Amino acid sequence: MKIIAIGAVTGGKVMLFKYCAECGHELEDIKCGDDDCKICPSCKRIYGRNPIPVVEVLVVNEFNEILLLKQNYISEDKWTVVSGYMVEGETIEEAVVREVKEETGQIVTKCQYVSSYYFEPKQLIMIGFIAYVNKAEFTDSIEVDDHKWYKIDEVDDVIARVNNCSGMHFDKCREYLK
Ligand SMILES: [Zn+2]
Repeated sequence: MKIIAIGAVTGGKVMLFKYCAECGHELEDIKCGDDDCKICPSCKRIYGRNPIPVVEVLVVNEFNEILLLKQNYISEDKWTVVSGYMVEGETIEEAVVREVKEETGQIVTKCQYVSSYYFEPKQLIMIGFIAYVNKAEFTDSIEVDDHKWYKIDEVDDVIARVNNCSGMHFDKCREYLK
């Protein structure tokens, strides 16, 4: 029996399925072990309550500077780390490299898993990495309003901590920073 995700991401939010994505029949509640799932009574497809995986990446350069992003749709005055939804077919490390390249233009030379965070408002599992780059030119991304390199002791004052995992991730990364 195949279990698929119970919802789809629309506008950054998980929308739970009410109808079978395969045959359109209305779904019913079912227990899968101890978990609350949904089942299609017609084609028997089961929908599990799976979080959406997202990579959360603290980018550091060879001068020990931290790269933060200004994304006005997230915060008007605070700065965030690189993050993005994983794409089907890629590994977590490939997602880290791709998101850093897309949002900043920097090339990751090495990356390391640090910690994970559950972001309840959007049912996201945030997979936190630290990524090392050699300082290069920024490239523009429609998702990013500004980029800036910060000294480590400047980060606390500017990093987003409300409704965002950036600050929590920076705290976890501190032991990896010189
Ligand atoms: Zn069905």
